[in-house]
Amino acid sequence: MFFNSLMALFSNDMGMDLGTANTLVYVKGQGIILFEPSVVAIRKGANNKVLAVGNRAKEMLGRTPGNIVAIRPLKDGVIADFEVTEQLLRSFITKVHHRRAWVHPRLVIAVPSGVTEVEKRAVVDSAERAGASEVYLVEEPMAAAIGSGIQISEPAGHMIVDIGGGTTEVAMISLAGVVLSQTVRIGGDEMDEAIIQHLKKTYNLLVGERTAEEIKIRVGSAFPLEDELKIEAKGRDLVSGLPKTITVSSEEVREALAEPVNTVVEAVRDTLERTPPELASDLVDRGIFLTGGGALLRGMDRLLASATDIPIHVTEDPLTTVVMGTGKILDEMSTLREVLINSQYA
Ligand code: ADP
Ligand code: MG
Repeated sequence: MFFNSLMALFSNDMGMDLGTANTLVYVKGQGIILFEPSVVAIRKGANNKVLAVGNRAKEMLGRTPGNIVAIRPLKDGVIADFEVTEQLLRSFITKVHHRRAWVHPRLVIAVPSGVTEVEKRAVVDSAERAGASEVYLVEEPMAAAIGSGIQISEPAGHMIVDIGGGTTEVAMISLAGVVLSQTVRIGGDEMDEAIIQHLKKTYNLLVGERTAEEIKIRVGSAFPLEDELKIEAKGRDLVSGLPKTITVSSEEVREALAEPVNTVVEAVRDTLERTPPELASDLVDRGIFLTGGGALLRGMDRLLASATDIPIHVTEDPLTTVVMGTGKILDEMSTLREVLINSQYA
């Protein structure tokens, strides 16, 4: 007992959610010790110098002079830029393991289920170059299921809907495997973009991505609210070119969000239609688990419940469900090993 807690104290094991919008790191015995945007700021030039990663890089989004670019290398759920992804991984791993001796670290990384074999290999190589000695990958919906507290090994159907920044993943899980899944390239980013377009069309107001995201988080919804909300939006008037502030209502934001939101609903309905009947009937009792940052959009659960006639459970803390799942895999490696997808690489 004492020995175990001592081991936990010196553990090097790390679980990572490499998300399209956010990267989180869980260290055994310590909990979540890193939660930063998956953004890298680079100065373009002969050797593309990395200026900042994570929070500092996100602050630079939309504010960079010509020769500096802020990149989200995983934006669409595929690794658009291997080199930048490696920089991101390396920087976060270094940040975490600098605090302690990193002797024989095991790393479990959750990757979007759409990534190709080549991309998986690249993630494993990058993590190894950054100092990890054993790297395991798990599909994000599986990590989300484990993080939601689902008994994944049962012969019973569970559905996970994970609305992230760049993608939404819908997966049916049974017997510790993904029975079927669907990834759509629609998530929080598309919602932000829909708000930008709405303000441009309706008010001739140009706002940046970060402002649009803030509007979504503060007043966005997928289902009518008991008390509708209002917010001030600041941007640039497209006609005069000057700064301008307008007031936006939650009703109009909901209307603007309808298209991306409905794409998510359609993806869920489509997966339900393709689900074998025995597994589909399990969902009637167990419900669908909704996670990822998009699960926090007001009324998303109610909309999905009314579109599917199945109860919807939003996970306890949707932004951390996946990384908590990777942590649980580390803790219970002997029983959960079967969910790792790259034992062939390790
Ligand atoms: P990923 O796993 O792809 O990195 P996350 O699960 O971290 O994505 O979710 C990030 C997305 O969730 C972003 O688009 C963010 O704007 C959105 N988000 C975060 N909080 C809220 C909220 N309260 N309401 C609506 N969307 C939110
Ligand atoms: Mg995610």
